[in-house]
Amino acid sequence: MMDSQKLQTQYRTDTCGGLRKEDDGREVTLVGWVFRWRDHGGIVFIDMRDRYGVTQIVFDRNSAEQDIDSLAHKLRSEFVIQVKGQVRPRPEGTVNESLPTGEVEVSATHLEIISESENPPFRLDDKGEVGEDIRLQYRYLDLRREELQRYIRIRHDAVIAARKYMDTLSFLDIETPILCKPTPEGARDFLVPARMHPGKFYALPQSPQIYKQILMVSGFDRYYQIARCFRDEALRADRQLEFTQIDIEMSFIDEDDIIKVTEGLMETIYRQTLGIELKPPFVRMGYDECMELYGIDRPDLRYDLQIKDLSDAFRGCEFRVFNQILDTGGRIRGIVVPGAAGYSRKELDDINAVAVDMGSKGCVWQRVGGGGEHDSSIKNIVSQPYFDKAAELAGASRGDLLVFVGGPDSLTSKVLARLRQYLAAREGLIDKNKLSFLWVTDFPLFERDEATGALSSSHHPFTSPHPEDLDKLESEPEKVRSRAYDIVLNGYEIGGGSIRIHNPDVQRRIFRALGISDEQAEYKFGFLLKAFQYGAPPHGGIAMGMDRVAMLLCGTDSIRDVIPFPKSSKASGLMEDAPAMVEEKELLELHIRKIVKK
Ligand code: ASP
Repeated sequence: MMDSQKLQTQYRTDTCGGLRKEDDGREVTLVGWVFRWRDHGGIVFIDMRDRYGVTQIVFDRNSAEQDIDSLAHKLRSEFVIQVKGQVRPRPEGTVNESLPTGEVEVSATHLEIISESENPPFRLDDKGEVGEDIRLQYRYLDLRREELQRYIRIRHDAVIAARKYMDTLSFLDIETPILCKPTPEGARDFLVPARMHPGKFYALPQSPQIYKQILMVSGFDRYYQIARCFRDEALRADRQLEFTQIDIEMSFIDEDDIIKVTEGLMETIYRQTLGIELKPPFVRMGYDECMELYGIDRPDLRYDLQIKDLSDAFRGCEFRVFNQILDTGGRIRGIVVPGAAGYSRKELDDINAVAVDMGSKGCVWQRVGGGGEHDSSIKNIVSQPYFDKAAELAGASRGDLLVFVGGPDSLTSKVLARLRQYLAAREGLIDKNKLSFLWVTDFPLFERDEATGALSSSHHPFTSPHPEDLDKLESEPEKVRSRAYDIVLNGYEIGGGSIRIHNPDVQRRIFRALGISDEQAEYKFGFLLKAFQYGAPPHGGIAMGMDRVAMLLCGTDSIRDVIPFPKSSKASGLMEDAPAMVEEKELLELHIRKIVKK
């Protein structure tokens, strides 16, 4: 096959994935790894593997020029070998339909063992039984597995598609520093001691945010970069200490322009990597509506299960706890699970445990019956007409299950968002083949820390406030909306950005609202404020989480699967054993003294 022969080198004529029926009779040379090995009545068969596929090799004693048989018996899994031989059709009945090369085999006349291998600690055709730590420790072997090879390939295709698309739209790929001044994105910085500046530190970029904004001031009105970002924060299945963004910034634009470019980017990526046609424009929803209906700013819209406000149903009911909640500004909110009234007590207890896990005292359930016949965990306290009203308000009918929680919105949202996920999974409502994109807009500019009362930016401090809300900046900062937007896919936030502030005075007001004094602002961000004094264009941008996008393209649920050398869930590089101790001498050169707490 042409493709396979394109990869010809001094070592091979073809790859292990390229041979087909049409190659019958060709003399070929292949290199690769011994994948599977079997001895059928003295004849050795192996499946030989490289990046491109698997080919069956038969060591036929009779036709061999060398003592191939005894050599073939020395082969073990993962040996690197070179095989010469003739392509021939597999005997009838032995064709392997599931393999692209399954109609042929190579009858070997020459075998060379190039490298031997230790017995691998796990089988490379079998993921299930191996713990992740051992896979990460022997990542070079893990990466040989077909699944990870496919993921890396999909990720490559996505990056290529992205680059081509950005280039078509005149975006320039511009690099920004890795050793920089802190770029706040709300996480802890990784600091790098500056040997040549005793006592000072560089920070690794949490994102190229400030630099890309400065590039706008420099007149590069369309910038992008596939940028590595670093945030020193707790790891999760979809988070790593270092990750990759498709980072974008544009000048002379508004929200719709960025959204359009991003939708086109996702469209291109899905078409080029998976051949899937997306249908932009994607749904848009304001933050308030999103929180009201789904309790979270990144809802999975592959299923419905909207949250309903049931406060009016229970106002004045016999349950003191509910009344207290309603009197102190809280609400009773719940979800209808269609046809789930038959859940057993055990299943209802499990649901309650999820609610408790999310920080509530528990949830209430109601098996919706006809008028006056509802079963409920509080039916001995609350009289039936209240349940009638609740069912009516929720739009629930006989046979449905209502699950509800009371409290401040911050609590009910959190609990119900989790219950939505739990119940959708339990009810089998999640269609794995569906892609549900959503834009969330009009975020609040600030968040208030419940414990300390301090304000912080919901996105980052360079996000523009909504012009209509500017006058509330000092008086009612929590009411100020921002010009930020997030893009969500199937419950994952895959990107986010905003229209930026380009006026130094507004930027100073934001810093002040965040409790950053003018002097601190000058020290930390003076260079940006100064740049804005030299003709700053209106600008905005977005960053797409490349790892998460790749994870979703690959249909896996761990970001580590699409990163060749990820950190473990405990933030270690298990293969290379990072982080590592360094010599005292090196630390001294960096003007650092080590204090290890006992
Ligand atoms: N710098 C932001 C982030 O990393 C994205 C943006 O606002 O463009 O989340």
